[in-house]
Amino acid sequence: MTRMRWRLFTFAAVVSMTLCVMALVAWPVGYWRRVYVYYRFGAIQVGVQTHAGTMSLGIYEYPRPALMNGWGGAVRGLEADDYEGLFNFGHLHSPPRRIGDNLYDGWWCPHWFLVALFGATPAMWVVRFRRRREWLLRGRCRKCGYDMRATPERCPECGEIDQKGYREESVIPAPPEQHAAGDHP
Ligand SMILES: [Zn+2]
Repeated sequence: MTRMRWRLFTFAAVVSMTLCVMALVAWPVGYWRRVYVYYRFGAIQVGVQTHAGTMSLGIYEYPRPALMNGWGGAVRGLEADDYEGLFNFGHLHSPPRRIGDNLYDGWWCPHWFLVALFGATPAMWVVRFRRRREWLLRGRCRKCGYDMRATPERCPECGEIDQKGYREESVIPAPPEQHAAGDHP
């Protein structure tokens, strides 16, 4: 993995972790109240809502732009039909029926699904990070894992240079050279 790709991967893991934490926080909140947070810009309103184990994303398109753009939200009591269980996936497309009506598109899924989805990338990142550190400590190329103890400045396998974090003293020494049976008298 090149340094640029590693940085992009780290960025994706941070964004994903943030979303994972948000889903984790919204989960218990949704069993307390229906909490809806939205952002309105012009005629479009995009919002997320947590309710009884389900997280939904909704887009409203109004016939007229709003007078005020920006963030908003609402806290409401739970309804009996909010309790749809742990496998509540769905999509609803509701076009305007009359003139002046708004269009609505909604997608929803259980919180556990979002936690698993957004948690996957950070988990992969931790595995890769540990492997890279392990390779560096063992004097291996952090990019391809090739043994660089003989050539610490540059990997002969993939050409990776500047092994940041590479320290001579922290590197486990190479095993003694094996001698063939006929070498000793
Ligand atoms: Zn390499």
